[in-house]
Amino acid sequence: MPEITTEPLRIAVIGGGITGLAACFYLQRQSQDESTPVDITLFEAGDRFGGVFGTVPRDGYLVETGADMFITNKPGGIKLVRELGLESRLIETQPQYRRSLILRRGRPLPTPSGFDLMVPRTPWTLLKSPLLSLAGKVRVLAEYFLPGRPQEDETLASFAKRRFGREAFERIIQPMVGGIYTADPERLSLRATLPRFLDMEACHGSLIRAVLHERRQASQHRDSRLEDASGARYGLFLSFDQGMSVMQDALIEAIESRCQLRRNTSVASLTCTAGQGYLLRDFQGNSLGEFAGVLVALPAPRATSLLAPLAPELAAELASIEYASAAIVVTGHSLRNIRHPMDAYGLVIPAVENRRILAVSCTSRKFPGRAPEGAIQLRTFIGGALQQHLLKESDEALIAIALEELQDIFGVTGTPDFCQVVRWNRAMPQYHLGHVERVRHIRELASLQPGLELAGNAYEGVGIPDVIESAELASQRLLRKLNNAPPAA
Ligand SMILES: Cc1cc2nc3c(=O)[nH]c(=O)nc-3n(C[C@H](O)[C@H](O)[C@H](O)COP(=O)(O)OP(=O)(O)OC[C@H]3O[C@@H](n4cnc5c(N)ncnc54)[C@H](O)[C@@H]3O)c2cc1C
Repeated sequence: MPEITTEPLRIAVIGGGITGLAACFYLQRQSQDESTPVDITLFEAGDRFGGVFGTVPRDGYLVETGADMFITNKPGGIKLVRELGLESRLIETQPQYRRSLILRRGRPLPTPSGFDLMVPRTPWTLLKSPLLSLAGKVRVLAEYFLPGRPQEDETLASFAKRRFGREAFERIIQPMVGGIYTADPERLSLRATLPRFLDMEACHGSLIRAVLHERRQASQHRDSRLEDASGARYGLFLSFDQGMSVMQDALIEAIESRCQLRRNTSVASLTCTAGQGYLLRDFQGNSLGEFAGVLVALPAPRATSLLAPLAPELAAELASIEYASAAIVVTGHSLRNIRHPMDAYGLVIPAVENRRILAVSCTSRKFPGRAPEGAIQLRTFIGGALQQHLLKESDEALIAIALEELQDIFGVTGTPDFCQVVRWNRAMPQYHLGHVERVRHIRELASLQPGLELAGNAYEGVGIPDVIESAELASQRLLRKLNNAPPAA
């Protein structure tokens, strides 16, 4: 009897950021589990994989040029860490600096401990904080008594002002949430970014009542991580001993023996082939091969231009997801040259302070091994949705802005050990009001496209765990489509 051989399914993954790398990993795994032989090619436009990930050793510092940590209360990141066998490489945030600062009238002041982006988890610590006036504090605490008016969706600004008052919004909530999304809170959809707050209102009427309820439950399980930190819940964040690139390098190692990894290869177009697959071409019109399946792991603006001729309605929806740009000025300083003790993970700056920077991350205070003894690595963020005009400035001008602001706020003087500007153009998706419905429509349209799937930060979350999960789910959907199996319920 002649042996029956099954031709492997040729799959192209487009975009070699963390989403594309994770997609290759899960396509390999799932195809093995389903005994579906696959032949995967990963196309990356740049000369390196990782996209927004980048750890660069420099002058004794370990510089993070993009993402520098991931949260563990969403499963995607920590699950992949376990699957890659990287648990021993994980490091926690340094507890002695576990707090964040907010600028008020030019002075960096600690965020009240237990303040969880929008809600005071320990309301009485707010009373001691100089960040708000007495009237502002009373207005925040009055939230306890406000009846719930649950909405399906609302902008962050409208929700925060309605629940906690304008002062708390302008002085605490806007800079803390703006720091994460580099977004305009007057347009940001709460359902798409922080749905738990809408759910808390729907369930308990008041967010303060909801957190007090959670606290009672947490104290029964002694989960102090929910209570201690000031600012974001930093106890929930992790990185790796040699920086975030550990994850990207481990993914490359896991996939490289069975995937073709093509750097410096931009995919410019997709066209349908007679055999129900896709022909990929580069910008010179050269064929990059035919594939039965394509997983597009690109930010929405890039996916838009790729898909416009093939699926115009899908591309139009993708085009309506706006992205903001930001620059990070990374600098290294001797602590001797800084007046402030820098005893925090970072500083966020309210828009009402009218400064030229958005935030400062004290990267080497969050994690050990990021700066030599006696020195500190600072990452100053400029741009975002509210300050796009500043990004027209040259690198030298951005460095000058960062150093002037650091001197004014923290008393940073002297010549830095190094300065580096990293520009992230259209890298931060802005989940504006209507985003949830738009993504639902995108998913419907993509489901009609044979052998094509989408993953990345444009859809159900911008953080590392979100994009990893989106890669895993897109891989599952793609293999189901290619096997002509019905979609999962
Ligand atoms: C400055 C910054 C800091 C962040 N910090 C954190 C953090 O600390 N923690 C966290 O959880 N999240 C953070 N995020 C968010 C998170 O890092 C990103 O959402 C995530 O890394 C995006 O990964 P991605 O693979 O989807 O996209 P990208 O990293 O943008 O990768 C897309 C890749 O596609 C390639 N590409 C583009 N066009 C083509 C084409 N036509 N053909 C082939 N390849 C193409 C690009 O070169 C790029 O490598 C941060 C984001 C930014 C911008």
